[in-house]
Amino acid sequence: MTRRTLITRVAAVPGSAAFPVAVALPAGAMAQSRSSRAKVTTRVRRLELKHTWTTVMSSSTHRDTFFVEFQKDGITGVGEGAPIVRYNESAASAKAAIDAIAPYLESCDPGQFAKVKREVFTRVPGEWAAKAAVDIAILDWAAQKLGTPLHRLFGLDAEDAPVTTFSIGIDKPEVVRRKVAEAKDYPLLKVKVGLDNDQEILAAVRAETNKPLICDANEGFRSKEQAVEKIQWLAGLGVTLIEQPLPASNLADMNWIRERVSIPVIADEACLRPEDVPRLAPYFDGVNVKVDKCGGLQEALRMIHMARALGLKVMIGCMVSSSVAITAAAQLSPLVDYADLDGNLLIANDPYTGVVVRAGKLLLPLRPGLGLSPALSA
Ligand code: MG
Repeated sequence: MTRRTLITRVAAVPGSAAFPVAVALPAGAMAQSRSSRAKVTTRVRRLELKHTWTTVMSSSTHRDTFFVEFQKDGITGVGEGAPIVRYNESAASAKAAIDAIAPYLESCDPGQFAKVKREVFTRVPGEWAAKAAVDIAILDWAAQKLGTPLHRLFGLDAEDAPVTTFSIGIDKPEVVRRKVAEAKDYPLLKVKVGLDNDQEILAAVRAETNKPLICDANEGFRSKEQAVEKIQWLAGLGVTLIEQPLPASNLADMNWIRERVSIPVIADEACLRPEDVPRLAPYFDGVNVKVDKCGGLQEALRMIHMARALGLKVMIGCMVSSSVAITAAAQLSPLVDYADLDGNLLIANDPYTGVVVRAGKLLLPLRPGLGLSPALSA
């Protein structure tokens, strides 16, 4: 059996521990975890966008995301997931799903977070954003209980966190120019393409800056021929990476495209969960891992390790969400090539502060857990 076949087979086992979180808890550190019942609080928050956000798929002025608080032994773990309509998720359905398993969560041992994740995955069909919120809250709690930043629980060094891209949504050229000007502190911009006005958008971006760009087509190119034409045109404009040129289900044309373009092509909409990574490996140069889509940080970590084993580039991405989900994803960013963690920067009423960006680089909080603080203005 080849390595790739082995990984494919292992990945196909639901909840498999092929790449378990390598964490050794000190003896007794979690001994009290079973002592008291936890309290689980769920809520939906409306996040207001600074700019109307447009991609190939949708346009909106706000997003509703789902929050979980896990309180036990005087410690509160916080988690967030951004439900995705395409997968029949809503903030309300996320809340209902987790409210239904609250009795289990309130009696679980959060020190056994891998076991808790497996149990939650067994009890909750679908609702990946809801499961992500729970996983983040439990890990935030566990790391706080141990008095360590979450990235250290994963064995990672905050110094290794990369720069994050800043995304420029599809808009009128004058608005695009303003957004690019506002993003002057970010050394790498991500530009949404895939509509008929790509030339206008890129001209507006290039009128403001010569920075390297990555582009995300969000499945928007209409044929393999158009994809090649557009990608080569973009490469000539200093674009260094393209995300998801064709619909997620179209793998057949991907290698035809890759043979004809000069920049890496990575999967986003095609890549949801660990089992997708080995399936996509023959067709893409890399994958975009999103915590909200795979069901949490533990699953995202498995995806990253799997992608690495298969020789793929890794991006960690996000949905529009608050600093809770973004700071959570940032905990894994020391492992990736590209971070696209700007979802909190797009909203006007972030209820927390956590990871911050300085000259584009992600600065992870060094406080225990996620290291969040309530935002004074929220
Ligand atoms: Mg994308």
